[in-house]
Amino acid sequence: MATPSEPDAEQSLPRQPAGASTLAVHAGEARQKPGDAITDPIFCAATYTFRDTQSVIDFIEQKQPREEYGRYGNPGEKVVERKLAAMEGGESAVLFASGMAALVGLLMAKLSAGDEIVFFDECYHRSREFCAKHLSRFGVVTRQVAACDYDAMRRAITPNTRLLVSESPTNPHLSIVDLEAFVAIGRETGAETLIDATMATPYNLRPLEAGVDYVLHSATKYLGGHNDLLAGVVIGREEALEPVRKLRGIMGSINSPHNIYLLQRGLKTFELRMQRHNENGLAVARFLAEHPRVEKVYYPALETHPYYDVARRTMRGFGGVVTFQIRDADWRETADIVDRVTIPRIGPSMGGVESLIEQPLVMSYYECTPEERQQFGIPDNMIRLSCGIENAEDLIADLAQAMAG
Ligand SMILES: *Cc1c(COP(=O)(O)O)cnc(C)c1O
Repeated sequence: MATPSEPDAEQSLPRQPAGASTLAVHAGEARQKPGDAITDPIFCAATYTFRDTQSVIDFIEQKQPREEYGRYGNPGEKVVERKLAAMEGGESAVLFASGMAALVGLLMAKLSAGDEIVFFDECYHRSREFCAKHLSRFGVVTRQVAACDYDAMRRAITPNTRLLVSESPTNPHLSIVDLEAFVAIGRETGAETLIDATMATPYNLRPLEAGVDYVLHSATKYLGGHNDLLAGVVIGREEALEPVRKLRGIMGSINSPHNIYLLQRGLKTFELRMQRHNENGLAVARFLAEHPRVEKVYYPALETHPYYDVARRTMRGFGGVVTFQIRDADWRETADIVDRVTIPRIGPSMGGVESLIEQPLVMSYYECTPEERQQFGIPDNMIRLSCGIENAEDLIADLAQAMAG
């Protein structure tokens, strides 16, 4: 019987190139599964047993691909890793317990004392914190430069620079990295490149095709898509990811079998959800751009966006996140609008079917000084709305009443 742990001819890998939904539904899965079920089983196994001593020896001598112990992997994880690699167009994927676990796992596996990394500064605040407070304790130097300032990135590179890191789009400003320019700097200087494409997803952006070495996603967001799980993934060349996979087996930053099943299930509707997120984001951004109470909208499809051209050239759609500022409003008047909406829930995160709204000042930057908030580009009157898959007209009517109040 073919089990999902055997990446063999029994896999229902669709003809390449296949569409995003065909891959999301079928890639990585065995055609015939245990129990003849259409779905993959959830293997609740902490350990895997061997028929006899010779089987153990065969496994150790790598003659036999199979599971050994839960921390090193489980059959469901391999299915989802193959699916995510296929969706991203990469050779291999390593799944982690969260997006942060993926980032920490990759950086810890790739960097040693004396190494340096250069980061574009518009980034997830915990990524910044990990580099500044923790990687530094192990002698790794992080240099932050302004997002999308390629000259500044070049100037920050030294002979010790191993890795260039950015998100694209960035959060919450939705700046878009010109991947060609970014990859070119890496190639000129011999540094590897990492794009955290959580906000874009493989539907909207193809970093590996642009030559980026590693793509990282918080699968907690659009990939899982239902605000019901945390997971993270790094995708790239098999050989380059081998040390990352090995370190994960030591750190134990793995997902439970149940969590992996939820992710696999969430992925089935990935393209449908992304199409709706893209439509909703665009419709809401256009509505806000015309609204008299709105001072500024950050959405890459708007011609007023500073990275409109790069976005149009390199992305298929722009996702569900729309950031905006309320004209002449202090933090309290801005909070009042957040409090008056009835469909989006107030909370951090994004990329799920439910819309979420937050005021970055309060949600992520409350403990920063006003100077730090200015440095990070977080004004008091900024709101970040992550459109879910509700109907755009309802989201727009809700925003209209919240701003009329
Ligand atoms: C949420 C997020 C992360 C962290 O992912 P978790 O799954 O919450 O650990 C990293 N990068 C970006 C861009 C994110 O939005």
